[in-house]
This record gives sequence, C-alpha cells and structure tokens, in this order.
Amino acid sequence: MNKTSQVTRGPRCRPRQFRTSVLTNSLMEVCLIHRVAEECESPLAFASIGLSRAMLQALRKIGYSHPSPIQAELIPVALDGFDVIGQAKTGTGKTAAFGIPLIEMLEARGHGPQGIILAPTRELVQQIVLELQRLAAGQDVAICGLYGGEPIDKQLRALARGLDLVVGTPGRVLDHIERRTLDLSDCFHVVLDEADRMLDIGFRPDIERILRKIPDPHQTMLLSATISDDIRKLARRYMYNPVEMNLSKDEPSVEAIKQYYVTVDHDRKTDLLLYLLERDRPSQCIVFTRTRRGADKLADRIKGRVAGVATIHGDMAQSARNRVMQDFRSGAISVLVATDVVGRGIDVNGISHVVNFDIPDDPENYVHRIGRTGRMGKDGLAYLFVGPDQGEPLTAIENLINKVLPTLDLQNFVAHRREDRSKSSRFRELWSTGSSPNAYSNA
Ligand code: AMP
Repeated sequence: MNKTSQVTRGPRCRPRQFRTSVLTNSLMEVCLIHRVAEECESPLAFASIGLSRAMLQALRKIGYSHPSPIQAELIPVALDGFDVIGQAKTGTGKTAAFGIPLIEMLEARGHGPQGIILAPTRELVQQIVLELQRLAAGQDVAICGLYGGEPIDKQLRALARGLDLVVGTPGRVLDHIERRTLDLSDCFHVVLDEADRMLDIGFRPDIERILRKIPDPHQTMLLSATISDDIRKLARRYMYNPVEMNLSKDEPSVEAIKQYYVTVDHDRKTDLLLYLLERDRPSQCIVFTRTRRGADKLADRIKGRVAGVATIHGDMAQSARNRVMQDFRSGAISVLVATDVVGRGIDVNGISHVVNFDIPDDPENYVHRIGRTGRMGKDGLAYLFVGPDQGEPLTAIENLINKVLPTLDLQNFVAHRREDRSKSSRFRELWSTGSSPNAYSNA
C-alpha cells in the first residue's frame, strides 16, 4: 500500500458508517470485537478488522474464519472511504475484499442503489451477486445482477422495488441508465472488477459513460490483474488520490499450482487429453480451447469416453450457460470445455486440473486460465499442450511468468511422433532473445 498517499490526504468519500445499530456505541463495539475474537482461533480473525456483528455472523456461517491477504489489506482502507487501486487476481478472495466494506457502508435504502459493481462477464456478475448475498445474509440488503441474455423484466421489477447494490456488465447497466430504469444519483461506491479485462473487450466507452453519471463525492475501488497505462489513465480521470496496493505479489494460489507443458502433435491432442483424464482422474477439470467451435467439437469427441462433460462459451444462451455453471458447481459436470471469455473468472473450489488444450493467443490469458485451479491456497495442476511449431508462444508465457515450465512425464503415451524439433527451436529463441534458460529465477 502507498502509505504516503494515505497520510497526506483524507478520503473523498464519507468513511465507514455502520447501518447495524449495535456498533454505534463504541464500548459495545469493543466488547463485541473481543467476544467474537475470543470465539475465533486466531488474533488475525475478521473480528480484529472491526466489522459489524451481522457481518461477523455471516462470515462465520459461510466458514470464512480469517481474512485472506487481500481482504486484510483492502477492507480497512475501503472502510475509511479511500479510493483504491488493487492489483489482484481472482481466487484470492477479492470479491469479499470489496463486498464486505460495501455492505458495511450501506445506509438506509434510498431512491437508487448506493453501490455499483461493474464486471466483464455475466458469469462473473452472477458470482459476485451470490457472494454478496452470502455476505449480507441476515441483513436487509437488496442486490441485483444486471446483464444481458436473460429477460429484462426480472431486472426491471427488482429496480422498481429499490436496490442497495447493483452488479452488472457495462453494456446492460448502460442500457438501464438509458431506459431510465436505473438511477445512479444515490450512488456512493463504484467497483470496477477485472478492469483490465473490461478494457480489453472494449468496454471503455461504456464504463466512462457510467462513471460520468455517478455524483461526487464517491468512492471508487478498481481491481485488476494487471495495471496497464490504460488503467492508469482511467484512474487519473475518475479517481481521487487512490491508495495503490499490489495484492498479486507472492500470490499463493498461483504458487500452489504445479504447471507442466507437453509437446503434442495436433492430431494427438484429443487422445492426450483422454489419456490424462483417465490417468489423473481429476475431481473437476476445465479444458480451454481457443474458439467456440473448437470447444463444441472437442466436447462432442470426448463425451462418449468420459462422464460429465459439458461446454460453456459465448454462443450459448444465458439460460444454458447458467445451467452448466450450476451443474459444474454442484459437481454434476466434471469436465468443462470452455473458451477464454467465459472461462475466466469461473470460481469453483473443486477444480483440480486446468488443461490448456489450445495455447492461449495472449500469454496473460494463460495466467487467468490456470488461476481457475489452486483457489484459496489449494493445490492444482495445470497442463499446457504445445504444438511442435509453438515454441514462440510457449516462450512468451514462460517470460511472463518468469519460469521455465517442465515437461510432463507421460510414461508410455506418445504425444509427439515426429522428430523433436520443438526443444531445439525453443532454446534457439531463448538464446536469441539474450536470455539463457538459467536467467529464469524460478526455473
Ligand atoms: P474470489 O477471489 O473472490 O473469486 O474468491 C475465491 C474463493 O475464495 C471463493 O470460493 C470464496 O468463497 C473463497 N473465499 C473468499 N474469502 C475467503 C476467506 N476469507 N476464507 C476462506 N475462503 C474464502
């Protein structure tokens, strides 16, 4: 955290104000925190951050005993009303990191929502809504997801009844603003989740139009896996002296993932996948393909051989996507074949394996893909299938993650029948860019 910026100026937004009356009396607050702290095993429990009784009860019910590193750092700063730029990936508990302070800072319900969260995909919106609902259990907090692909009537009815928090994709949120069904004049808190992804997929103009509708003063929390120049430009224009935190460093979830690559002939990829599924028997697995058609074709090919296979991608109707996600969460689906846009952000705790069936076009997507496993410090395995001619994208990934990926031991399975040229071409690339394999610190 940039401490200097924190001490040299105050927050622009009003600091925390608990709606729960039990915390309006400071003596009671101290007693409550002590009582709940005693009940929790660790001094670093949520109670030590100073949350309301209702929130501590909800957290206990969900089973969150200790804040994750991002939660421990972000929650107190957000509760004090500061704008925040947090470099953070999914799988680290970032939804609760912004969700807890948002719920804690809510006041009596007014005309329109007091907080808006923008996220890049429908699935992410739905996940955020679910998490906020769990965090707000036992409190009267009205939350609604605004996204396309489902009949708008349900959203219109919820908006008309009055909401405290809305979570939406920029396109649908803007749609509601234009129809005048969403009024942001009471909005005090804005969260831009996965900001880099939203900019990547062209949401910048929509985001800016939404941000211009939010009255001053307000609090903005921007969360992004990477902080690019584009993100900084957005922050300069719409944020007030934000406190910056890098919450991605030493990220335990990625560290906990064992990563391997396999050189495989194009026509052996499906067999290799089947071999690995049979060999490893993953509890749950996401297989990433480059295209929607590729996802469908692959799922069709393996369906007869493996139980519990399904596809998810952007060509599917929202209701079908919802059903697949529900079945994946419940464990009824064990192998989910997905494309990047939809696969990114999927938060299901039981995913033991991620298979990069097609190498990602953008090396950054590799990091997002493998982050679907190893959630909250659990172990995970990630396999990367590399064609004999794909040394270059493999090297780009290794440069990004600053690590040389080891090859996977396949015992008797022959994945690559022709002369093994990939290795030598990879090494040529490494030397020609001036970096020997030894240059990688984590090799
Ligand atoms: P997120 O990064 O928000 O997608 O969260 C990743 C996963 O961590 C979700 O399944 C959450 O339910 C879980 N989670 C979030 N915070 C905690 C916590 N403090 N303790 C245990 N699990 C958590």
